[in-house]
Amino acid sequence: MADTSGGSVFRRMGLTPVINAGGTNTKHSGSRMRPEVIEAIRESSDVFLNIDELLVRAGEMIAEAIGVEAALVTSGAAGGLVLQAAAVMTGKDVARIQSLPITDWFPNELIIQRQHRFHYDHAYLMTGAKFVEVGKGRHCYPEEVEAAITPKTAGIIHLVSPFTGAGDIPLPVLAEIAHRHDLPVICDAASMVPPRENMTRYLDEGADIVSISGGKGIRGPQSTGLLIGNADLVEAARLNAAPNQAIGRPMKVSKEEIVGLVAAVEAFMAEDEAAETARFRRYCETVVDQIAEVPGIRAQVEHDRKDHPIPHAVIYFERNWRGPDGEEIHRRLMQRSPRVYLSPLGFMGEIYMDPINLQPGEIEIVAESIRDELLKASSGE
Ligand SMILES: *Cc1c(COP(=O)(O)O)cnc(C)c1O
Repeated sequence: MADTSGGSVFRRMGLTPVINAGGTNTKHSGSRMRPEVIEAIRESSDVFLNIDELLVRAGEMIAEAIGVEAALVTSGAAGGLVLQAAAVMTGKDVARIQSLPITDWFPNELIIQRQHRFHYDHAYLMTGAKFVEVGKGRHCYPEEVEAAITPKTAGIIHLVSPFTGAGDIPLPVLAEIAHRHDLPVICDAASMVPPRENMTRYLDEGADIVSISGGKGIRGPQSTGLLIGNADLVEAARLNAAPNQAIGRPMKVSKEEIVGLVAAVEAFMAEDEAAETARFRRYCETVVDQIAEVPGIRAQVEHDRKDHPIPHAVIYFERNWRGPDGEEIHRRLMQRSPRVYLSPLGFMGEIYMDPINLQPGEIEIVAESIRDELLKASSGE
């Protein structure tokens, strides 16, 4: 049975846990670490070793598990963005590595499509890189990227994320432009796995180095991430990272987190995705079935490659809905005991239930809680 009302360490602190039906959101503590991860953390925590050696070996093992040239464990995908930007500006040049964030004496411009500016992009700028924004509104064309390339350009950014991608330049086209000018494409695909095919998809499409979260769908330690791709860039990223006294030093990863992520990636890649997807779908159907009859509500399971990379239960408020909006329903669910957390609302105010963090015993509580709140709200309570 799930520890839905437990979490005794938090209760001793006077805090109230949530049932996380909202996905791998960082504010609601990411994802559930795999048992293999906890075991690796336990086994490693009493032993000392050289962290450089560990990072190199862990990178080799992760690269092999995924089937890519090289990999590096980072402090979250956001830490990976810092190191990507650093890597393309410094390469393995010691003087440049030591100089960051002072970058005025070498190429320091990163081209970014305007619709790829997003909440995490401070991470790039921390290194002393400068953005050159291209495109207008929600559209960007290859000529605009070509025109922005100068001798100061260090690389081109590409963001892949649910609900982005309309109107931007497809990655293969962007990569072709970049490579014709001898420039690397640095890609943020933090939240795009599962599906497992996305682990290598962006490298196959031409990105040179890709940052992926270790604490989201892979279910490693929440604070980890990985960079994968070109071996020279991955090595340049490592030289900019802790334990070296470089720009990445404030973003260190412990030996426990490093071995934890190795265990997570190996277990993730070995897992049967069809069985996992079927379980997620079953969880979503449990919710959809419970609320099918609520007047003014339309609910369905959605699963596609882009916006819903794993199955989600999506709850739409129809024109004949008489209750309060999704935000208020969210608030009420978080006031229940146990608290139920759902994903942020969609563009049309629809509610998403993301099954990735749920375990047996929890989905029934989530489905009943949503049904109960919707029924009460529809009858004016
Ligand atoms: C979550 C996310 C990040 C940050 O990843 P962390 O592993 O939490 O550091 C960066 N970019 C995007 C698009 C994300 O979704």
